[in-house]
Amino acid sequence: GESIVVRDVGQVYAARSGPPTVALDHVDLTVPRGRFVSVIGPSGCGKSTLLRVLAGLEEPRTGSVSVFGATPAAAAAAKSVGFVPQVPALLPWSSVLQNVQVLGRVNRAAGRRRPAPPAGCEFVTDPVSLLTRLGLQDVLHARPAELSGGMQQRTALARALALQPDVLLMDEPFSALDEFTREAAQLQLLDVWSELRTTVVFVTHSITEAVLLSDTVVVMASGPGRIATSIPVDLARP
Ligand code: ADP
Ligand code: ADP
Repeated sequence: GESIVVRDVGQVYAARSGPPTVALDHVDLTVPRGRFVSVIGPSGCGKSTLLRVLAGLEEPRTGSVSVFGATPAAAAAAKSVGFVPQVPALLPWSSVLQNVQVLGRVNRAAGRRRPAPPAGCEFVTDPVSLLTRLGLQDVLHARPAELSGGMQQRTALARALALQPDVLLMDEPFSALDEFTREAAQLQLLDVWSELRTTVVFVTHSITEAVLLSDTVVVMASGPGRIATSIPVDLARP
């Protein structure tokens, strides 16, 4: 498969009391390879749930999901899914560089072969070059706690990219950053992405961020999450 395909997916959570919460309701979404898709929508509409389902972290109640022909769980086990959570969850006693190298080692141990990167972007295979590309060359040997929030999030991004994933999933990775730091991180992400062209699904509640970064904006309706509309960004841009 050359796309990520979400078909009629529903997710329901039991509530402690009262009726269960419908988090996803008949969600359909197709993300062709190489696309940078943002998913926007109000808080609670199911964006994170959709991302966790794509990441293979939870099984949807109904419907089907294919990540380039594999189930999300199989894709995650094969480390072909990079995930950048809202909170970076770095290993506290390891250096920035070690945090990024960890998954590369996991990859090699699994004997996984990634398709060769496009000519001129061999840097993707190398944690030091990746970190340099993301502006972290001076803190390779620092511990995560010594870094600013923006730097920690870029480390998490480098860690995910070091997998050379088929798809990069990001859950509001910059929402906790101040405006200046966020803008720098966004531009660095765009810079790396313009070379890698990894398929990206990026969850945000910021319309500005969605239009800045992605080539397609998918809008989820409030209430039980459904995809309301999907807008190519050339049209969304003024
Ligand atoms: P968003 O990311 O758009 O803010 P979420 O996917 O986090 O939305 O949540 C969608 C709905 O599902 C919300 O009503 C939320 O409270 C509920 N929900 C999410 N995760 C769980 C969970 N693990 N258990 C129970 N309810 C959940
Ligand atoms: P585990 O699978 O037991 O969590 P790993 O060695 O695979 O351990 O991962 C090490 C670290 O990398 C963990 O902190 C984890 O949060 C993070 N990580 C794991 N998988 C991914 C991924 N696909 N993308 C980004 N970070 C990941």
